[in-house]
Amino acid sequence: MKTITHWIGGKPVEGTSGRFGPVYDPATGAQDKQVAFATTDEVDDAVAAAKAAFESWGTASLAKRTAVLFKYRELLDARRDEIAALITAEHGKVHSDALGEVARGMEIVELACSIPQLLKGELSTQVSTRVDVSSIRQPLGVVAGITPFNFPAMVPMWMFPVAIACGNTFVLKPSEKDPSASYRLAELASEAGLPDGVLNVVQGDKVAVDRLLEHPDIAAVSFVGSTPIAKYIQMKGIEHGKRVQALGGAKNHMLVLPDADLDFAADQAINAAYGSAGERCMAVSVVVAVGDTGDELVGKIAERAKGLKIGPGTDPASEMGPLITREHRDKVASYVSGAAAQGAEVVVDGTGYSVEGHEDGFFLGVSLLDKVPVAADAYQDEIFGPVLCVVRADTYDDAIKLINGSRWGNGTAIFTRDGGAARRFQLEVQAGMVGVNVPIPVPVGYHSFGGWKDSLFGDHHIYGNDGIAFYTQGKVITTRWPDPADSGGINLGFPSN
Ligand code: NAD
Repeated sequence: MKTITHWIGGKPVEGTSGRFGPVYDPATGAQDKQVAFATTDEVDDAVAAAKAAFESWGTASLAKRTAVLFKYRELLDARRDEIAALITAEHGKVHSDALGEVARGMEIVELACSIPQLLKGELSTQVSTRVDVSSIRQPLGVVAGITPFNFPAMVPMWMFPVAIACGNTFVLKPSEKDPSASYRLAELASEAGLPDGVLNVVQGDKVAVDRLLEHPDIAAVSFVGSTPIAKYIQMKGIEHGKRVQALGGAKNHMLVLPDADLDFAADQAINAAYGSAGERCMAVSVVVAVGDTGDELVGKIAERAKGLKIGPGTDPASEMGPLITREHRDKVASYVSGAAAQGAEVVVDGTGYSVEGHEDGFFLGVSLLDKVPVAADAYQDEIFGPVLCVVRADTYDDAIKLINGSRWGNGTAIFTRDGGAARRFQLEVQAGMVGVNVPIPVPVGYHSFGGWKDSLFGDHHIYGNDGIAFYTQGKVITTRWPDPADSGGINLGFPSN
């Protein structure tokens, strides 16, 4: 069985803990790999390698840093297929979707290539006689990233390219469920010329995460994952004096007004609810049908849902692959099985689905639940699977009240032809990312990604300008070059202009 190792100081490091996690091929259900779980000593080794590398990387010229990042971008471009295949093998998503993930991750590498522009400081001359003031931003030192299973390449790339472009060195703890993509990303960074120790990968579980959060040499932690763990990371990180950004879970609502193009809305709801088997933090998991649109819209979504092709991610004909584990698949299915007893109408039931020749794979069909009561578990919980809930609302006001009552506030969208309603929505809705006729409004790399409420803990969103701010600290320099003719003299008063 293949063992996925750590990547420390620019080389593979086998684990010594004797503890391993299983890595499955979700399409077959077979465990063909295992991942080493780091000891606290191995985490310490990774942090020590990063700390040593910071000595020179932290002061490396912008030209040197960008030369490596441009080369890295070229290598990623050449290896898109290979990285996407690694994602499909361990996550299960279909190859085309995995390619999209790689492309969205590369967008952040491209952003990082523009670091000389992004890190430009500010200068004010002659703020007082012969006094100038400049503001610059400097790296923090060693920073860490902890990432979830659902985007094993893209989410790490939301973090480390920006962090290292800013001059930091990085320790990444990827999801133990699909760790190979992160490992490969680190290997390729070395190939691109990134000095040893600038980017390290420690595989593992809570033992590794806790050590990162406690380690005195880690200055900041970026986390993306579920809400309970995000809260934990924020609290523990702060307790140990770290800067923390912790992105959590979501329950994203798509509001459909009566004037919307219902065929377009139904297509978009299908794509956003069932793409990647619903295992996206920006997936649409609730459609709020306003006014009398409900029956027609549900009919259109159901018709499309029944025609989706579910199968292994390696089959080009598959539109949706399996879920990440058997346990997760069964948990997702339980929301569908329990929905009717809690008052919902099960319009499409995807439970009990299996794919011929892949009976042990972690497959689940798509499900559509209509008239879901707000109190039902299917509405209250983040299901993170191919289950779309529809909630009916009489008016726009009722709909916005429902959305704003959610404890999450990651993404949301409105579908309408009414510009005034869309404008009201974008100002009134309590969420960090808003789509207008766009169901999954993941910001491009040069804007920042992040939610509100239980979807993000910390002050900074991720990548874009917020990413630069998160991975740097500001310094303001006040300079006076006196004319030799000026004596200055003695003055014990507070300096003023
Ligand atoms: P998760 O919270 O279970 O795991 C995320 C990371 O935390 C992993 O590296 C894992 O090893 C680690 N971890 C898990 N339990 C831990 C514990 N008790 N102590 C310390 N570390 C622990 O999340 P997941 O299941 O891998 O990913 C799915 C979740 O991530 C969903 O809730 C999804 O919405 C969320 N997510 C959010 C965003 C966003 O941008 N807001 C993006 C992607 C995924």
